[in-house]
Amino acid sequence: MMKLIQNIDVYAPQHLGKKDVLTINDKIVKIKDAGSISAEGFLSETEIINGEGLLLTPGFIDSHVHVLGGGGEGGFANRTPEATMEGLTKFGVTTVVGCLGTDGIGRDMCALVAKTKGLNEQGMSAYCYTGSYQIPVRTLTDSIVKDIMMIQEIIGTGEIAISDHRSSQPTFEEFARVVADTRLGGVLSGKAGIVNVHLGDSPRCLDLIERVVDETEIPASQILPTHINRNEMLFGKSIEYALKGGAVDFTGNEDIDYWETICDEVRVCNGIKRMLDAGVNPDRMTISSDGQGSLPMYSSDGEFLGMGVGQSSCLLKEVKECVFKTEIPLEIAYFYFLAHLPQAFAQLVNKLHFYIEGDRQVRVLVCRIDSPAHIEINICSVLKEHSRYARCAVLKYRPVIVQLVFTQIILSIVKHLAYRD
Ligand code: ZN
Repeated sequence: MMKLIQNIDVYAPQHLGKKDVLTINDKIVKIKDAGSISAEGFLSETEIINGEGLLLTPGFIDSHVHVLGGGGEGGFANRTPEATMEGLTKFGVTTVVGCLGTDGIGRDMCALVAKTKGLNEQGMSAYCYTGSYQIPVRTLTDSIVKDIMMIQEIIGTGEIAISDHRSSQPTFEEFARVVADTRLGGVLSGKAGIVNVHLGDSPRCLDLIERVVDETEIPASQILPTHINRNEMLFGKSIEYALKGGAVDFTGNEDIDYWETICDEVRVCNGIKRMLDAGVNPDRMTISSDGQGSLPMYSSDGEFLGMGVGQSSCLLKEVKECVFKTEIPLEIAYFYFLAHLPQAFAQLVNKLHFYIEGDRQVRVLVCRIDSPAHIEINICSVLKEHSRYARCAVLKYRPVIVQLVFTQIILSIVKHLAYRD
C-alpha cells in the first residue's frame, strides 16, 4: 500500500523543511522537496495525504520509565499502575527503556523483562535495565554481565540509587563493580552497557560517580545519572559534571508549577538553558519522564496530599516549554534532548537502531540520518484514516503548538493503527 504525504514539515530530526514523503507499506521510501512527487504513473493508486500544517518527526526515546509501575513507598496501597502502550505513544514516545525502582521485590526482573517483551509485541521499541535501586543487583540470570549479554531486552543496569536514604548505601568499591560489570556486559554483547543512576537529595550528589570517572579506567559515557534537576544544589553540581564531559539526564514533570513551589526542583527548560549558557555540550543532555513512578505530594506545611504518578506525556510538554518559555529552537530542543540519546551514548543509539531495523514490526516515525545525503526512516505503519487528525485543526493554539499537537496525534494514530494491524 502506497501513501504520499504532500507538503509536510519534516524534522528527521534535523529540520528538512517542507517535503513530499512517499511510503510503501511500512517504509518511507522517498523524501523530496514539496511539490516534486505527484501521484502519476505507477503512483496513480497512491493515497494522498495533505501534510499542510503537520510535522513529521521521529518518536521520542524515554530512557527511564517504571513500565511495571513504581512506588509502594508508604505501603502497598501506594503502588502505581503499569505503563500502557496507549499512554506511551499518545504523546509521541516510541522507544522506552523500562526500570525497577525502590521496590525490587514486589516487582522483579522476570516481570520487568516480560512487560518489556509485551510492549515490543505491541509495537513499541522497548528495552530495560537489570536491577533496581539496590546493590547487590538482583539480576535475572546469575550476573549483570550475563543479563546484558544473553537477554536481548536488557541494555544496562539501573536505576541504581545513590545519595538517597532509600539506596543500599553502596560503597565506592561496590558501585564501581556494578559499573564495571555493566560495561563488560555491554562490550561483550555490542550493547551500550549504560548504568542509569538515580540521584537522591543528599549533599553527596554525584560523588560516587565522579570517583568512578576519576579513579578507574571507565569512561563517563558509561553512566547516565538521572533526576539531576531535583534540587538546586544537585543541579549546580551536575552542571560542573557535564562541563567535564559527563552525560546528564533531566527528569521531566507534568506539574512543575507545583514542584517549583514545594521544593526547589529546576524546571527542565530553565535548566537546559542554564546548561547551554554555561557552555555544556548539548550532546551531554537528555530528558526522561520517570513515567509511572510515584510522586508523593505534600502541601507547603508538609501535609501529605496524595500520590501522583509520573507521566511519559511530560516529554512533549517539556519540548513545548523549551520552545515557548526559553526560546530554544524546536529543532534543537527536539534533536538534542528527545529524539536521540546524546553522542556520548552513540553505542546505545546505534544498538537501538539496529534492533529497530531487525524487528518484525518497524516503529513509528523512528528515523536516523546515515549521512547528510541519505535519510533512512522506518515507520511503523503508514498514515491511514488521515481525516481523523484534520478534525483537530480548530485547536486554539499558536501555530507551532498546533504543529506539535498534530505530531502527537499523528504518532498516536499511527501507533494505534499499527497495533490493530
Ligand atoms: Zn529514580
